Amino acid sequence: MNDCTVDGCIRPAEDFVCRTHQDELRVALRDLADDLLTELNVTRWRLSRSTANTGTVSRSATSALMFHATASSLADTAANSLRAWAREVHADQPELRHPGSAATPRELAGWLSLFVGRISVMPDGGQLADEVIWLAKEVRKVIDTQPMNRFLGICSTLNDDREPCEADLYAPPDKAFVQCRECGSLHDVEERRRILLNAVGSQKGTVTELARALPDLLGRPISVESVKTWVRKGQLIPAGRNERGHSLFLVDDLVALVITKQTRRRGKVTLTVVSA
Ligand SMILES: [Zn+2]
Ligand SMILES: [Zn+2]
Repeated sequence: MNDCTVDGCIRPAEDFVCRTHQDELRVALRDLADDLLTELNVTRWRLSRSTANTGTVSRSATSALMFHATASSLADTAANSLRAWAREVHADQPELRHPGSAATPRELAGWLSLFVGRISVMPDGGQLADEVIWLAKEVRKVIDTQPMNRFLGICSTLNDDREPCEADLYAPPDKAFVQCRECGSLHDVEERRRILLNAVGSQKGTVTELARALPDLLGRPISVESVKTWVRKGQLIPAGRNERGHSLFLVDDLVALVITKQTRRRGKVTLTVVSA
C-alpha cells in the first residue's frame, strides 16, 4: 500500500488514489457532466454573482462585467483542464476510445467519469483528482445563488463616508422596486435591468444561450423558435462562430429586434382598439 497522491491526503491507496478520492472524483466528474457546466454557462449570461470577493466596485455595470469575467474564466479553465486530462488518460491507456477533439467539456467529463478506476493507477491520477474535485467545487460556488431571483447588480449607493455600498441586489421577477438589504436604499428594477443590459450589449452568444439568458435582463420571455425564425429570415445576422462552429449573435442585435417586434405588435393592438 502507498499513500494517496492527492495533495495532503494520508489515506492508503492500492495504486495512486485512495478509495475516498476515487469516489469524490467520480461525483465531481458526473456533476460537471450532468449540470454544473451548463449552469455555469447560464450563470455567466444571467450575470448572477456569487459571494466571491470582487473588491471595491463603484458601478453596477462594471461589476456585472467583472462577474462575467469570473464565470467565463472558470469555464475556460474547466474546458482546458478536462481537455488536457482526457488527452493524458488516452495517451496512458490508448485502448480507450477518446471522445474526439470536438467533444464538449461536458462530454469529456462524462467520458472521464467512466474510467476513475483506470485513472487511479496512473502516476498523475492524484493530480487529476485534485484538480477536477477543485474545479467542481469552484463551479458550485459560482452558480450557487438564488435561482428564483434576478441579479440586478451591486447596490453602489454612497454611504455617509462616500463609500459605495457593496451589497448584491436580487429581486423576484414581478417586483418594480428592490430595497437593498445592507443600506436600505430603494432601486428601480427596470432601470437596474437597463444598466446591466447596456453592460452586456457587445457580448455574443448562441441562439440557445441568448434565449435562456436574455429574459432575465429583458423581463419577458423569448422562445428559441422565434430567434431561429429571425435567423432564417435574415433579420438576425451572425456575428461570429464559437469553437464548435455554432453561430454567435450580438446581444445588442437580438435586443433591438425583440424591442422592434414588441413595439410593432403593440402598435397593431392600439389601432384595433381605436377603430373598434
Ligand atoms: Zn486520498
Ligand atoms: Zn446598498
